[in-house]
Amino acid sequence: MSQFQCKYCGNSASSISSLTAGNCSRHPLGSNSGKHSLYEGSEKTKYSCKYCGGTASNISSLTGSSCSRHPNSANKGRHEPAL
Ligand SMILES: [Zn+2]
Ligand SMILES: [Zn+2]
Repeated sequence: MSQFQCKYCGNSASSISSLTAGNCSRHPLGSNSGKHSLYEGSEKTKYSCKYCGGTASNISSLTGSSCSRHPNSANKGRHEPAL
């Protein structure tokens, strides 16, 4: 069964519409300032940040910390999973 995940926080839902109906606590504009956004990559055993290459076993733990190579400047944003 495939799950749809948010690329910002790793929240998962059984459909895209239910995923994107909820507010995202790790939205780049601020906590709950926007909806979950679909992670369009495949499910992996290990996720890499597309900015710095940091890895984690799931999106939730990857996006739980800030990224030292974030394009908005160091630590101004969270890691973002590569597709
Ligand atoms: Zn989210
Ligand atoms: Zn990173």
